[in-house]
Amino acid sequence: MRLLVVEDEPALADQLVTSLSEAGYAVDHAADGEDADFMGGTTHYDAAILDLGLPKVDGITVLKRWRGAGRTFPVLILTARGSWHDKVEGLDAGADDYLAKPFQMEELLARLRSLLRRASGHATAELTCGPVTLDTRSGRVTVDGTPVTLTAHEYRVLAYMMHRPGQIASRSALIDHIYAQDFDRDSNTIEVFVARLRRKLGPEIIETVRGLGYRLRCSP
Ligand code: CA
Repeated sequence: MRLLVVEDEPALADQLVTSLSEAGYAVDHAADGEDADFMGGTTHYDAAILDLGLPKVDGITVLKRWRGAGRTFPVLILTARGSWHDKVEGLDAGADDYLAKPFQMEELLARLRSLLRRASGHATAELTCGPVTLDTRSGRVTVDGTPVTLTAHEYRVLAYMMHRPGQIASRSALIDHIYAQDFDRDSNTIEVFVARLRRKLGPEIIETVRGLGYRLRCSP
């Protein structure tokens, strides 16, 4: 899953990028509204965290532009404490949730998981596909109850597909959703990650759809 963090305070931005990366997401960062507008308008993020008070273009305007351009990814806005006006304006402009600063990182992570779940139509934090279970809270993956250790990229490939069971994930979509923008991308790596996932989770779980990509097979 790939996220966009829009925050102009360097310390908070660092903290967000670090915590979200540790939680298993690929994270891009924009430090002003202009970059945020461009990045959100041109990249298929799974969700965005958007501060409202930004240099160049304010957060509400950025959000309105994304929504106006048909971008539907979930957006969590960061507002000043006690500013009910910001919250109302943000929600009306197309935000899905908000957090007032200062906030606890744990709460932000929980709200984000909830947004990602809802966006993909899942009701619980635990995603299941056949023998494979992925707990989005802990990042724990099990096969028939036995824990499996995945690298960060393997986890992102699996998490992306498990949020979209039954759908074909093209190689380019997987690349878009597992790498942050400044990462050196190589489309052949997707095949490597899929091969490793098959080895760790069972050969049947990821089906190759010729010429299109990959699909999870959740029922035998
Ligand atoms: Ca700010």
